[in-house]
Amino acid sequence: MDASAVQKTLDRLKEAQKVVAFTGAGISAESGILTFRDSGGLWEQYSIEEVATPQAFYRDPEFVWNFYLKRRNGALKASPNAAHHALAEWEKRFPFAGVVTQNIDDLHARAGSMHIQELHGNVWKTRCLDCGIVESDRALEFQKLPSCRHCGGLLRPHVVWFGEELDADVVRAAVKWMHEADVIFVVGTSGVVEPAASFVRTAKLHGAFIVEVNVEPTELSHVADISLFSKAGAVFGEWLQLDRSSFS
Ligand code: NAD
Ligand code: ZN
Repeated sequence: MDASAVQKTLDRLKEAQKVVAFTGAGISAESGILTFRDSGGLWEQYSIEEVATPQAFYRDPEFVWNFYLKRRNGALKASPNAAHHALAEWEKRFPFAGVVTQNIDDLHARAGSMHIQELHGNVWKTRCLDCGIVESDRALEFQKLPSCRHCGGLLRPHVVWFGEELDADVVRAAVKWMHEADVIFVVGTSGVVEPAASFVRTAKLHGAFIVEVNVEPTELSHVADISLFSKAGAVFGEWLQLDRSSFS
């Protein structure tokens, strides 16, 4: 890894007033949760239109729920890796506003991050189609389609599907953090899913120093001040060690 880039990043971190991490599926890849593009993953067995659109759910809710129960199973088997752990630890040690994530796997929370904006929802939550209530639910299988214990309405996964709007409160909070940030780590995201990716570009216009960590160049590489093309777990594992030796 580029030692001067790593040191430069740590120096920026020391001086920063507000730090934010913006994460995508790649941060969980080393935890065993495959990204959209990884081969052999769930996404190879399904097309997005079949499982990740509101139309798909109305057409066949059972099929879509089965897909999300498989994703719950995958998330349950996975553990946070060094990248999730580093971000959780830094939240306590630096002026870290929090993590803005596109992931729904809950691994940031399991690593101990306290301040998280989940732009695309959470695989462990349900939302009632009738009364709108959002609740946590750890079921890994259903005998029949799940219904709301308050009103009896059909429950859907509390995730954002293609063609749907993001939650306005979550967006407001995420955008505020990112516009006020002076350092943003952009980790494991291809930067192709909008509007999430545009938050990084706008934060750059607001003056944020962008550190990208990804195994390959992405749509957001051109706005990055530093790009580290390595695995997120490896990069953050190294940072954690350096950080402990230089700050303790
Ligand atoms: P993406 O699949 O489009 O891109 C993943 C990125 O991670 C790629 O650029 C890839 O090069 C990079 N990557 C792969 N392994 C890496 C590693 N070890 N370290 C660093 N980078 C690595 O994912 P995205 O940008 O998050 O956007 C797509 C959508 O996928 C989001 O809406 C998200 O909700 C959904 N998704 C989430 C999960 C999850 O919750 N873990 C998994 C799959 C897809
Ligand atoms: Zn209800």
